Amino acid sequence: MERRIDHYLERLVSSDSMTFYKALCEFAEEKIEPNYLDWERNHQLIPEDVISEMGQMGLFGVTVSEKYGGQGGNQLDLILMGLALGYHSQSLAITPGAAMSLGAKPLQLFGTEAQKEAHLPDLASGKRMFVFGLSEPGRGSDATNPQVTAKKDGDDWKIKGEKCWSTNAKWSSHVVVHALTSPESKPGYRTTCFIVPMDDSNVSYQEMAGKDLWSQSSTGSITFDDVRVSNDAILGKENEGFKVMAQTLNGGRLFIAGMSLASLAFALDKCRSYSQEREQFGVPIGTFQRVQDVIIDMDITLEQGLTWLIDLTNRYNDNTLDRESAAKVKIECSRKASDHLTMAMEICGGVSSLDEFGLIRHHRDLFVCRVGEGSNFALKGFAARPLMPDITLQ
Ligand SMILES: Cc1cc2nc3c(=O)[nH]c(=O)nc-3n(C[C@H](O)[C@H](O)[C@H](O)COP(=O)(O)OP(=O)(O)OC[C@H]3O[C@@H](n4cnc5c(N)ncnc54)[C@H](O)[C@@H]3O)c2cc1C
Repeated sequence: MERRIDHYLERLVSSDSMTFYKALCEFAEEKIEPNYLDWERNHQLIPEDVISEMGQMGLFGVTVSEKYGGQGGNQLDLILMGLALGYHSQSLAITPGAAMSLGAKPLQLFGTEAQKEAHLPDLASGKRMFVFGLSEPGRGSDATNPQVTAKKDGDDWKIKGEKCWSTNAKWSSHVVVHALTSPESKPGYRTTCFIVPMDDSNVSYQEMAGKDLWSQSSTGSITFDDVRVSNDAILGKENEGFKVMAQTLNGGRLFIAGMSLASLAFALDKCRSYSQEREQFGVPIGTFQRVQDVIIDMDITLEQGLTWLIDLTNRYNDNTLDRESAAKVKIECSRKASDHLTMAMEICGGVSSLDEFGLIRHHRDLFVCRVGEGSNFALKGFAARPLMPDITLQ
């Protein structure tokens, strides 16, 4: 049975883009799918040989310019990668996805030539990754006011505090740390971003224990104990660190919307095939109108979501995408996909609770799409601001 998502993508993207997407679908089908359940049952992160194979395929450099050894693609290619890999598992998609959209992206947007030359070739080949160090134990949605500080010490800076929820920490050589540098300045101008090596003796990292979603993706907590860095480590401008983080998140939110749709696309195909095979009361369950309702609602959301997301992605590539639109598509795709996954599991019945059936993995993973890269609730307040410009929203 043809994947329903392919039917829509064929009319939304060029045939070259479709060829790229299909090659990734084949890779995931042949190399990942047969092994994934074992990794899941063994609570294993994506194996390093798979990461290095993805690196050789150029998947960590899709959006990195050819000048730095990347593939020279754009955001649409990144989204297509997320759709192809995310159909199997969000953990798989987010590994190269976060490496590019959160790791390499700030460097591409704000790095000096020397910083780009020093890091982008290795990042593009997947030899090493960068962590996006925004969230902290005490600062999630309130990210403009980090508790991690960077204080001047002679010509250098000393960084102190802790970052957490850091995707890809295990494989990363550096973390982009968003730190408070000017507490008295106005919001948005209090922080600076620093590129900090993970192997500094005053940096310690540990994998966050007990996380029960995105289970094959590395998520670390990173502590900085008076880590000394020079001005050369600053990414972007001093006291304009929030701009670095916020601009990076625009593209990241499109990627999260895409992963949400990938999970929805998987669930739709699963329900379509199961409801034609599974018989109750002597007929396939797909003949029941309630089951049809769930399937057609999923299909409508998938078509709407893809059409919207591809349009915004093209606008992102043209530099005309506003931040509110990136937030809104992330909110809507993640919440709708989550709601549909609940119903998808219900119409398939008890089998949905089995890991090998696949729905439960996507259902769990969609939680991260709702809270990650700006929780949906917090983002709604942000996206509502331009609608009511005459009042201050809480
Ligand atoms: C698996 C995983 C991977 C992640 N990867 C990264 C990463 O690589 N780098 C990184 O920096 N971060 C990462 N994050 C962190 C993620 O971005 C945060 O979880 C997210 O920003 C929300 O912060 P919080 O969890 O601290 O929730 P909080 O900010 O504590 O929010 C708790 C609740 O309060 C609500 N709330 C908060 N503020 C508002 C508001 N203004 N209006 C309405 N409601 C509000 C929220 O919606 C939420 O329901 C990751 C998280 C997860 C789970």
